Amino acid sequence: MALRRIQAMSRPRRIQYLAGYPPTLVAEIQRLIDEERLGPALRKRYPALHTVRSDRALYDYVGDLKTNHLRSAPPLSHVSYDNGLHVIRNALGLHTTIARVQGNKLKAKREIRIATLFRDAPEAFLRMIVVHELAHLRVSDHDRAFYQLCCHMEPDYHQLEFDLRAWLTLREAGGSSPWADDAAALNPDI
Ligand SMILES: [Zn+2]
Repeated sequence: MALRRIQAMSRPRRIQYLAGYPPTLVAEIQRLIDEERLGPALRKRYPALHTVRSDRALYDYVGDLKTNHLRSAPPLSHVSYDNGLHVIRNALGLHTTIARVQGNKLKAKREIRIATLFRDAPEAFLRMIVVHELAHLRVSDHDRAFYQLCCHMEPDYHQLEFDLRAWLTLREAGGSSPWADDAAALNPDI
């Protein structure tokens, strides 16, 4: 009885990351989680973690993507991983533009922060979220133009976003990370 109640409570939270996807796809992910097959499936598709471990490395990684795809967009003044970004609220990354008066000019300071959970993720997931935040330098809304720009930078954007959300759903359901062993090897202090 208690278990049933917990399941009833956790179910809506489990699928929050997949809201908006066709019910059949959501049910498939739920089934894979229930059968403990989602983690292995993700690991098979994305076998390795990336090595972008520090904020400095992340700055360079974001800079390279920006140079390749959005050369004319304004420069970024700050790029970092951010522990404070709450995955629960679905904020995986954050881009901010802070307008400051400098002399008699208004200067915009642009920052990108990426949720720390992406440090222990495959490169494809990091790329997806960075592409998302970079696209916001040009388009602020999540409209058609925005997703066209995302797909221009990463042709597999939609598949990556779905797989990323499947992973987040697995995390939310309490499943262990498909890359837990690799992460432990990269974080010897923990
Ligand atoms: Zn966004």
